[in-house]
Amino acid sequence: MDPYTTMEVDDPLENLRLRVTLWLLPMGAVAALAAWGFSVAGGVLNPLDRALLWPMALGFLVLEFYLWRNPQRIRQVWKAALALLAVYELSVVYYEAAFFLYKRDGISPALLWFPMVYLTAFVLLNRRQAFGFSLSYLGLGLLLGTAGLLSSPVVNPTALNTALQFVLSNLAYLMLLYVFASLRRHYAQMHQMAHTDPLTNLTNRRAMQGRLEAELERAQRYQRPFSLLLADIDHFKQINDTYGHPVGDQVLREVAVRMQQHLRDSDTLARWGGEEFLVLAPETELGPAQGLAQRLLEAVRQAPLAGVPVSLSIGVAAYRPGDTVAALLSRVDEAMYRAKAAGRNRVLGEDSLVLPTSWPEEEGSGR
Ligand code: GH3
Ligand code: MG
Ligand code: MG
Repeated sequence: MDPYTTMEVDDPLENLRLRVTLWLLPMGAVAALAAWGFSVAGGVLNPLDRALLWPMALGFLVLEFYLWRNPQRIRQVWKAALALLAVYELSVVYYEAAFFLYKRDGISPALLWFPMVYLTAFVLLNRRQAFGFSLSYLGLGLLLGTAGLLSSPVVNPTALNTALQFVLSNLAYLMLLYVFASLRRHYAQMHQMAHTDPLTNLTNRRAMQGRLEAELERAQRYQRPFSLLLADIDHFKQINDTYGHPVGDQVLREVAVRMQQHLRDSDTLARWGGEEFLVLAPETELGPAQGLAQRLLEAVRQAPLAGVPVSLSIGVAAYRPGDTVAALLSRVDEAMYRAKAAGRNRVLGEDSLVLPTSWPEEEGSGR
C-alpha cells in the first residue's frame, strides 16, 4: 500500500478540504436544479434529466447536511458524492451519444462536469488509486459513448470530432492531475522528513517546537493544564565509549520505543537533542506528570536495552498561566539538571526547585 495513504488522514489541509466541500455540495445541487429549471423553461427536459437531476440535487443537499453534522465523515461524503456524479455523467455520455450528438455542434453542458469526477478522486484517494479509478471511469465513458454513437441514427464528422476532443481533453486533464498528485506526494514526503528524527522516527525538535506553541495556545485559551518531561540518558557517553557508537544508536532507538509504549496517543514524544527526549503530556498536571515520568524511568531500567542497562534522569514541569514556551522549557531543563546533580536515575519535579527562601536566612541567623 502507498505509505502516504494514512498520512492523508493527518493532512494539514484537512480543514481546508472540509470548508471547500461544504461549498461544493450546494454548488452541485444548484447546478443540478438550474439544469432542470432551464430545461423545463426551454421545453427540452429529456427523460434522463427528468429521472436523475432531482435525486442528485437532493443527494448533494443531504450530504451537505450530513457533513455539517459529522465533519469527521468527510471521506464517506466524498465517496457518495463521487458515486452520484459518476453515475449521472456516465448516463449522460451514453444518452448524448445516442440521441443528440449527431444533431448538435458541441457537447451537452452536463458533460462540463465530467472531469469533476477525476478531481474528486484525486482529492479523496491516493495517487495510484485515483489514477486507476479515473482511467476506468473514462474508459467506461468511452465504451458507453461508443455504444451510444453506434446506436444513433447517423454518425457525422462533427459528432466524431466532438467525441474525439472530449476523450483527448479528458485524457490530458487526467495526466496533469497525476502530475499534481505526484507533487503532493513529494510534498508529503518532504513534510514528513522535515518533522521526523531519522534515527528514532520520533517527532524532531523543530516539529516539537511547533506542537509546544500550539499546546500553549490551547492551554491559555481553554485554561487547560499540560506538562513537559525532559529525559536524558545517564552516562550515555560511557555507553558509546564502552559498546561503540552503533550500539549507542540502537540504545537510543530502543529507549524511544520503550518510552512510547508507556505513553498515551495524545502525548507526544520527541527526540529533543542527542540523548534527550521531551514528552508533551496534554491535560496533565504536575503530580500525575511526575507519576508518568516515574513509570517511564522504571520501564527503561526494568530490562537492558540493546544489551545495555540504561537509566534516565527526568525533569518535570507544568504549564502555568502566563507561561511562555521558553520559560517552561527552561524550568524543565533546570529540573532535569537538578535530577542529574542529585545523583541521576531519578525524577525531579519543578516544585522541588522552589525552596522556601526564609529557611536559609533563619538557619543563618542562629535563632
Ligand atoms: P549525563 O549522565 O550527565 O547525561 O552524561 P552523558 O554522558 O549522557 O552526557 P553528555 O552530554 O556528556 O554525552 C552525551 C553523549 O551523547 C555525547 C554524544 O557523543 C552522544 N550522542 C549524541 N547523539 C548521539 C547519537 O545520535 N548517537 C550516539 N551513539 N551517540 C550520540
Ligand atoms: Mg544530554
Ligand atoms: Mg546524558
